[in-house]
Amino acid sequence: MGKKGLLLCVCQGTCPSFQAMNIFEVANALRREKLVDYVAVHPQLCARDGDNFLTALLASNETEHLYVAGCDPMMQAKMFRDAFEAAKFDGSKASGVDIRNMTTEQAIAAVKALITGQAAN
Ligand code: SF4
Repeated sequence: MGKKGLLLCVCQGTCPSFQAMNIFEVANALRREKLVDYVAVHPQLCARDGDNFLTALLASNETEHLYVAGCDPMMQAKMFRDAFEAAKFDGSKASGVDIRNMTTEQAIAAVKALITGQAAN
């Protein structure tokens, strides 16, 4: 059975869009809920080493679905396409949610809604 994973991406941690939340508390709250099998925070998935991270993570084909909380999901889909292709990971098994400008509590709720299928996007 494949694993469900969650990545939190924060524009290097310096972008004002992520200043209202404690990203580690977001991660910990979602870990405690056990809605996914693994959680990680990455500083910049759309950078070259972010591509490398995604490809290395997904190439083992153990991830059944990848959730990414960060910027706009449409932007995510474009930026992660090459890494998914390199890993032979079907992009339809990834879904994202925009958590920019949210508080910790709002971000937790948005990611939970995404994972449980109650998100708007
Ligand atoms: S993938 Fe999105 S959230 Fe992550 S660093 Fe790039 S623009 Fe920021």
